[in-house]
Amino acid sequence: MAVNTTTDWSDPVTCPFCGDELASPGAGFVDHIDENAACETDFEHWRENIAGDLADEWSG
Ligand SMILES: [Zn+2]
Repeated sequence: MAVNTTTDWSDPVTCPFCGDELASPGAGFVDHIDENAACETDFEHWRENIAGDLADEWSG
């Protein structure tokens, strides 16, 4: 499985996981993953990947 931490988040009003338009940047995304379990799961994985990368760098 490829580890891809380069999720395209260039557009803050679009969900990077399903491409849906968000009601507003930031807070709209929180509401969005609240209502979309699949996106929430993807977001959790994405965040874990980022956290893992940082932990690796910082522990070295
Ligand atoms: Zn989504």
